Amino acid sequence: MTASAENVTTVNNIALSLNELSKSYQDDRHNNPYPAIDNFSLDVIKGEILALLGPSGCGKTTLLRIIAGFEVPQQGSVQIADREITGPKSWVVPEKRNVGFVFQDYALFPHLNALQNVMFGLKGMNRKKREERAKEVLDLVGLNIFSKRMPHQLSGGQQQRVALARALAPSPSVILLDEPFSNLDAAARGSTREEVRQILKKANATTILVTHDQEEALSFADRVAVMRAGKLEQIGIPEKVYASPRTAFVASFLGHTNLLWGNATENSAETILGCIPLSCPAKGNVLLSIRPEDLCFNDTVGIDAEITHREFKGHDLTFHCRLTTTGEDIEVQTDNECAVKIGSQTKIVMKGVAVPLEGSNR
Ligand code: ATP
Repeated sequence: MTASAENVTTVNNIALSLNELSKSYQDDRHNNPYPAIDNFSLDVIKGEILALLGPSGCGKTTLLRIIAGFEVPQQGSVQIADREITGPKSWVVPEKRNVGFVFQDYALFPHLNALQNVMFGLKGMNRKKREERAKEVLDLVGLNIFSKRMPHQLSGGQQQRVALARALAPSPSVILLDEPFSNLDAAARGSTREEVRQILKKANATTILVTHDQEEALSFADRVAVMRAGKLEQIGIPEKVYASPRTAFVASFLGHTNLLWGNATENSAETILGCIPLSCPAKGNVLLSIRPEDLCFNDTVGIDAEITHREFKGHDLTFHCRLTTTGEDIEVQTDNECAVKIGSQTKIVMKGVAVPLEGSNR
């Protein structure tokens, strides 16, 4: 487990600090400025990979652009280590920030080969030194043998690694990855993601990845920061954020979930699924998140339901069930061998715990 995964922030292990950032754009429809980033604060730990996850339009790219110095916030500051690079009284131009940026479309120069593309990112050293450093980083990303190839002679995944090498070459304090895998097909995405993760870890690079793909964020990052409408909704290690979402928004955005009301007394709650255990004590009326994998079918005990729909997903199955007494729709996830058929009657029981969500009487 990395230092970041332990979620320990001390003053001297922070690589990047975002403090109370706000950025508004003019709204064409209402003629009022509206906040794309709203009082946003976050510390990124040295060497960690942090994923900024959120729906389209929640402000992820705007935040990256503020860090890179392509946007000026109306409020707040950005610090790299102990140096303020954006603030009410400070401004460092993008090329002096020591921030590496990898764009969605890689943005390689089509007329330069892989080595020349990487050398382009290096300033302030002679040609021999630039070439040496570029070869070293191409080696790190496993592409030395392709150093003479032009971008169009490389696959999408290989172009992505050249773009990463170009960003890593000047040893930046922070690397920003803006949806870097979205142009790759599903098979290449998985393998490139793992390769890129290993390269970043080997280089001990402090990284922010922007994505709206929850599976990508959970598998790639040491910590996940979930954004909603310009605000930070929740931050933590992937396992924690997935298993203990703070709000209904986080619970639903990070995967499938059943949202049910319950009447809680300490560690259990009365619900339409019967009396079920809670992940933490709660009292009174509470909104609960129950992951489909925390439910299962049983022949003898449980709440009566009819199977209305079945989705085969390869490694697992999702069933949509209608509760006989209340008519509520509930999702249940099983392994891919479950033989329950559409239209059949079954019983649903809880095998995990329900998570009480904020906004109710938690
Ligand atoms: P996506 O995942 O679709 O890329 P995002 O989370 O990166 O979205 P942003 O691109 O940061 O979102 O945009 C946040 C909000 O700010 C959106 O409502 C967007 O329309 C608006 N916005 C972004 N750039 C500008 C701009 N230059 N002028 C006006 N509005 C803008």
